[in-house]
Amino acid sequence: MPDLDREARDRALKKADKAKKKLRGFNYMEEKGRFGVCSVKCKCGQILCELQPVPEMQEIQRTKGQTIIRERIAMFTNSAYNEIEITFADGSKHITMACGSCIQKGFELEDLDNIYAADMARWADEEKRGMGKVHWAMNADREAVSWRRIPSEERFRD
Ligand SMILES: [Zn+2]
Repeated sequence: MPDLDREARDRALKKADKAKKKLRGFNYMEEKGRFGVCSVKCKCGQILCELQPVPEMQEIQRTKGQTIIRERIAMFTNSAYNEIEITFADGSKHITMACGSCIQKGFELEDLDNIYAADMARWADEEKRGMGKVHWAMNADREAVSWRRIPSEERFRD
């Protein structure tokens, strides 16, 4: 039902408003024009991955006294990059990125709810740009009950 979804989205955005005041990295994805996403941060503001030139793929061309350097860029994760899995009261789970020092400090349940709210804000933004419908009624009211760090060998991202 579209109306249920819209109400649920409003609840999600209300949570996101609160989370925005708590998280330095609330807007955790930076985008630049045609490059799209060029860096991703932890919700604390620490950069986790960003577009960088690939040194092995640099081409240098010299013609008519001009030097042209062509670089290819790719998304690189840094050593702070980690993933956590949040478990919600309904038993469902959500995987998100976090930095190593946040993981070391640990998360209160409120922190996890805020982190999830920031992810929902991103979904809302993508939905608005026509990047796919979000099932808000299923997702908006989930409340965190626990979390764990995902060992690197279990990660599903590249
Ligand atoms: Zn962090």
